[in-house]
Amino acid sequence: MAKKEFQAESKRLLEMMINSIYTQKEIFLRELISNASDAIDKIYYKALTDDSLTFDQDNYYIKISADKESRTLTITDTGIGMTQEELENNLGVIAKSGSLAFKNENELKDGHDIIGQFGVGFYSSFMVADVVTVVSRALGSETAFKWQSEGADGYTIEATDKETIGTEITLQLKENTEDENYDDYLQEYKLKEIIKKYSDFIRYPIKMDISVQKPKDGEENEFIEEVEEQTVNSMVPIWRKNKSELTDEDYENFYQEKHYGFDKPLKHIHITVDGMLRYNAILYIPENMPFDYYSKEYEKGLELYSSGVLIMNKCADLLPDHFSFVKGMVDSEDLSLNISRELLQHDRQLKQIAKNIKNKIKSELQKLMKDDREKYEKFYSAFGRQLKYGVYSDFGANKEDLQDLLMFHSSKEKKLITFDEYVSNMPEDQKYIYYATGESNERIEKLPQTEVVLDKGYEILYFTEDIDEFAIKMLMKYKDKEFKSVSSGDLGFEEENKEETKKEQDENKELFDEMKNILSGKVTDVRVSKRLKNHPVCLATEGEVSIEMEKILQAMPDNNQNVKADKVLEVNINHDVFRSLKEAYSNDKDKLSLYTNLLFNQALLIEGLPIQDPVEFTNDICKIMN
Ligand code: ADP
Ligand code: MG
Repeated sequence: MAKKEFQAESKRLLEMMINSIYTQKEIFLRELISNASDAIDKIYYKALTDDSLTFDQDNYYIKISADKESRTLTITDTGIGMTQEELENNLGVIAKSGSLAFKNENELKDGHDIIGQFGVGFYSSFMVADVVTVVSRALGSETAFKWQSEGADGYTIEATDKETIGTEITLQLKENTEDENYDDYLQEYKLKEIIKKYSDFIRYPIKMDISVQKPKDGEENEFIEEVEEQTVNSMVPIWRKNKSELTDEDYENFYQEKHYGFDKPLKHIHITVDGMLRYNAILYIPENMPFDYYSKEYEKGLELYSSGVLIMNKCADLLPDHFSFVKGMVDSEDLSLNISRELLQHDRQLKQIAKNIKNKIKSELQKLMKDDREKYEKFYSAFGRQLKYGVYSDFGANKEDLQDLLMFHSSKEKKLITFDEYVSNMPEDQKYIYYATGESNERIEKLPQTEVVLDKGYEILYFTEDIDEFAIKMLMKYKDKEFKSVSSGDLGFEEENKEETKKEQDENKELFDEMKNILSGKVTDVRVSKRLKNHPVCLATEGEVSIEMEKILQAMPDNNQNVKADKVLEVNINHDVFRSLKEAYSNDKDKLSLYTNLLFNQALLIEGLPIQDPVEFTNDICKIMN
């Protein structure tokens, strides 16, 4: 029979499975059982929503049977089955197409990462089997089909007979090696152990033929061995169990079984609500950021069940965007099975559940911050940015909810602190919450504008992400304290020597006016600086747009308004350079122009802004060297 080829990406994945040295090969059983359970879910769901079908609970099960003689393991289910097309399309193609493209060759080598990251499902059977045979008959179909593959070079498919609807997957186990005893997967106790570990909560019975010793009739101390069909799993879904019965490992296994993430979850949240509103939920905060998290491909959402039946894979309405990293499921008796996506959006119960969940996530994160700061920081480094987006988006509708979850690096503490911590450490006379923006903590530390604020003994929060300043503009205040950039024109100090500043400004008015002229269109003003000590000049801003925001807006692909910050050139009149400026003003106007342009360009460089004409700048430097 002619072999058909696998799609290129599938082939690659298969090769990886076949050669895998992944240590937890036993998970193949979890994958096959999970597929079987999904297939029964589908037929169950159909029966519930289609009157022409009936669903008799007793007829639906998964069966695992081992044949030691032929060294085969068979997984049978009474689920919805697959048509010929479905066999070809579902088993020859990777569902999460494109996922391999992200990995480099090294990571691909042992497949460890892939197996963990993408939950390769059906293909994992090739970790333990040389030959995989799938016989399936789809609901509503008279004929069955047999799909068979010995690995990466392809598969065959042909018509066959099967009496009942459902799927039967037979694995011809690999030969034992020094490292791996594949015969383990034929042992009753081993199979039971694996099923208990990973699939205990599957809602349908997982049956096995177990040999038991029975007392022989009439004879004492004599037994005969009999084979008895037993259900191995407890069938109680994990979310219906009591929290006290469950261990961290149970939650982790569920997370992995469901492919919610490739990592170990950082935290799980088990919610049981009974009363006017009834639902169970198990939510997870992942430890790591999914590779596509900040891309358009990422889809938020929770699995939604109605009385134990899965009705939606990713219900987006259950999660606000700012908590889109949360994974997990919700089961409610109050939701109708037949509800359409459109109706669901407006469902009052669902809205209530979503609100509940949102509050719960928030309070759990707050608790984590309080009880385990290190863990919280780990979480924050992965998803903090999303929280800041949350503050900023929807016109700040969620800012109150989120402000206490934010943290920024502190100039004083040299670590991340919260606004609350900042405010409670403020000296009496401090009016504002000060922040400085820049590419990194190191760069911010060197900003001349920070000097005077630090001299006052005030703490500065470092903003190093694009979103930071936008989020803060939306927040405006925290506990009645306004936020203020160290680069803002007015730092808001009690002006001790207002008079003096005014005098200095007046004394140098003509010089500053001349400089302003020279820089016309580039700055809105030239002023005496009160914040500089070691630097001759710096830039301050007036108005809504800061220099950092200008950078971000300029970098945006659809930037066509050319938004610019209103910049003020501040001059340190105690600096030697200022004397040169004054001299040039009195004696040599060309020189004044040269110096002014140079100083302005220097200020731009310190801020990390581009110089308009770099060639002119270097020529200017050469001029003063001559
Ligand atoms: P996933 O379960 O994530 O979709 P798998 O590789 O585990 O990925 O399975 C691929 C697809 O093959 C499933 O989505 C399903 O359509 C089909 N499939 C696998 N096993 C069965 C089964 N026992 N019965 C019916 N369909 C199945
Ligand atoms: Mg699967």
